[in-house]
Amino acid sequence: MPDELLERIRRFHDHTFPGVQEQFQMLIEQGQHPSILFIGCSDSRLVPYLLTGTGPGDLFLIRNVGAFVPPYDGSAGYHGTSAAIEFAVLNLQVSRIVVCGHSHCGGIRALYEEVNPLAKNLIAWLELGREAALPVQVSSEALRRTEQRAVVLQLERLMGYPMVHSQVAAGQLTLHGWHYVIEDGEVHVFDVSSGQFIPASVASHSGNGPYAEHPFDPLFNEIDAAYKPRLTPS
Ligand SMILES: [Zn+2]
Repeated sequence: MPDELLERIRRFHDHTFPGVQEQFQMLIEQGQHPSILFIGCSDSRLVPYLLTGTGPGDLFLIRNVGAFVPPYDGSAGYHGTSAAIEFAVLNLQVSRIVVCGHSHCGGIRALYEEVNPLAKNLIAWLELGREAALPVQVSSEALRRTEQRAVVLQLERLMGYPMVHSQVAAGQLTLHGWHYVIEDGEVHVFDVSSGQFIPASVASHSGNGPYAEHPFDPLFNEIDAAYKPRLTPS
């Protein structure tokens, strides 16, 4: 049986790599200096490089189910997402953090469905989106709103990381909430002043996630209330 994957990596080495070798050599000599931490869902249909027109060295990537951010609770454990956030902010000193959810997200849909009981880690992980779920019958509209609410929830949690909070307060870091609509190929960016997600085609910025006292529309009021304590610098 032919190993298609082996053929692909050979093709990369023989045909693609020569065209970008110089770029990679420079990134080795000068080190990586990505300015964006991109936290995206693991969904295979979300392709951060395509979306943002970026390439090698441009994005420091975290991907997980749902594009979730665990709360900063001071415990030191095997928290991969938290570790990568700390590294991106403290070492790489990124100037932007993008949290990117998307349409048709299985992680969000799972909030309304029964999950395989064997997936114990997944069940626990999904709790990071629980507060975004609506007490309604599941529908495409409810899912869309939940996907968007989940993004805002993660932005709020990011502010609970002391290094994120201090960099944002110092004006060195901005937070961007995105909801990518796969079928339209369009990112909707979260606008703090209106509390709404606005299509990039008509937005005046690429997102300005919550990091201060801000007016939220009723959609986000309960999220705001739930996470207010974490917004207070300790
Ligand atoms: Zn997803």
